[in-house]
Amino acid sequence: MKFYCDAMLAGLARWLRAAGHDTCLASSEDDKSLLRTALAQDRILLTRDRDLARRNEANGRVVLLESDRVPDQARELKRKLDVDWLHDPFSRCVVDNSPLRDATGDEVAAVPKGVREIREHFTACPACGRIYWRGDHHRRMRERLRNWQKGG
Ligand SMILES: [Zn+2]
Repeated sequence: MKFYCDAMLAGLARWLRAAGHDTCLASSEDDKSLLRTALAQDRILLTRDRDLARRNEANGRVVLLESDRVPDQARELKRKLDVDWLHDPFSRCVVDNSPLRDATGDEVAAVPKGVREIREHFTACPACGRIYWRGDHHRRMRERLRNWQKGG
């Protein structure tokens, strides 16, 4: 399942990427081009826009989310599409959607010493250069993903 989020769903897009789903985020396109892009890339369009979801071409490719808050949107996606929130956690950059790779020695060397000493696994984004590691923040995120997966 690949996703295309409308511009109002930036927060949800980051979480879908955190769960490992290939997720693009629209800037501000008109409805027609949103749909066209989603169809061309074989993505499910997620939107808060009722009119967009109602269009004819939408037919099964568009899912309307009614909730405003990310946790509620996450549960809504679980109900409506049975999204797997534990698909492949932390395998993508949450900022730009690129698949992460193992960090090189040089990249790890640039991480603050305090972190380097207590963490082992580092990944890097080939697009933006961010380095990720599994710390407390990571654990809290995983906890949330687990809850959504359980439908809680
Ligand atoms: Zn990145």
